[in-house]
Amino acid sequence: MPQEVIRRKRDRHELTAEEIRSFVTGVTAGSVSEAQIGAFTMAIYLNGTTTAERVALALAMRDSGEVLDWSQSGLDPRKIIDKHSSGGVGDEKVTLLVVPLAAACGLSVPNLSAWGLDYCGGEMDMLASVPGFDGSPTPDKFQRSVIETGGAISGPTAELAPADRTIFKVRDVTATVESVALITGSIMSKKLSVSPSGVVICVGSGTGAYMPTVAHARELAESMAEVAAGAGIPSVMLLTDLDAVLGTSVGSAVEMVETVDFLTGRYRDPRTKELVIEVTADMIRLAGVAPDMAAAKALAEARLEDGSAADRFGRMIAIMGGPADFMARPEHYLPKAAVVAPCHPAAPGYVSAMVAKDVGLALIALGGGRKKPGDPIDLTVGFTDFRQVGDRVGPDRPLCVIHARNEAEWEDAAARVRAAVTVSSQPPPPPGPIVIDRIERHP
Ligand code: URA
Repeated sequence: MPQEVIRRKRDRHELTAEEIRSFVTGVTAGSVSEAQIGAFTMAIYLNGTTTAERVALALAMRDSGEVLDWSQSGLDPRKIIDKHSSGGVGDEKVTLLVVPLAAACGLSVPNLSAWGLDYCGGEMDMLASVPGFDGSPTPDKFQRSVIETGGAISGPTAELAPADRTIFKVRDVTATVESVALITGSIMSKKLSVSPSGVVICVGSGTGAYMPTVAHARELAESMAEVAAGAGIPSVMLLTDLDAVLGTSVGSAVEMVETVDFLTGRYRDPRTKELVIEVTADMIRLAGVAPDMAAAKALAEARLEDGSAADRFGRMIAIMGGPADFMARPEHYLPKAAVVAPCHPAAPGYVSAMVAKDVGLALIALGGGRKKPGDPIDLTVGFTDFRQVGDRVGPDRPLCVIHARNEAEWEDAAARVRAAVTVSSQPPPPPGPIVIDRIERHP
């Protein structure tokens, strides 16, 4: 019975693989209630898990649905590589940049992504802002996209990692996200259900991520690497510095604009580009398409510059039902907020730090995140032109532009942003590289 499993975890016992599997099976069958999922995830959050429990949870969640078979696809199995991010404010657009870029470099990328989770946004909310886009394709349609365009981006579906779909929605609104065990289960169930030959996962730390410190991020990375190795695939975990908003925008439709601008070359935030090239190069290397990181980075740079990554993304959108000319006219299709205005700092100076999580919470307050499982969100709201650490701000240079539904919500968001961003009279030292460390594990 689910309450027995919850009680044992509440009382700090180690759950058996069978107990975990029966709970997850009940989640998928609908016999476990949202309240029970909330209690289970909170017990795990508070009491932690052993490695054996984490592996059991990830495998049970993977087996809640189908596991893709590529043997009849004609694809080179070695080149089927997926990526993921453990979450960060502004970080979700990286997946939407890396999947088409890796595809343009000759890889096949079946990507099961996620919706927004607590204060971090999600790829599937960004894609939901594209009219007609099918974020829950059948396994057949998903595989067709990978075969024909080099990639596919979907959320977990009724067929693929369905347990994550249900548990994720409860974690989103019950303050049970920042748990090594639950993130490992959520991410690795999705990665393993699409049967890649390797995975590259960004594990962020800092105020914009779920893991507050590099030590916590390392623990999460080790946990996911353990599950990947146990499932027989190599993994690269990139420990990233997410102590500030990544890129210049935060929100669903506004981050789609940044994604298109990046791929087409209209504007590329340097830190985002650094990360995109690193992740793609590691995927290329794992796939054996380039002999070393230098060659892999050169290939990724070339495919970004020659427009082939932009072309791939356009094809991935179209095959999932989005407009065929989306890349040429994104502003024609993406929804817009009613109130769009710059937010200036209280005093001029330099951005010296920010609590990026509070920017993510400001997005939820604007209506761009969920407060109850399955709540609809406003895809138009968010922030653009967000200044980075080291940037000068003042009456002529706003902290950001806020996209809101009305004046009152704009005012509330402006107060939150001013509180989240520290402005100093002197410029701070430049931030270090976005990739802090790399953990590579082979089975
Ligand atoms: N991304 C996921 O898919 N799941 C998590 O739990 C966190 C980030």
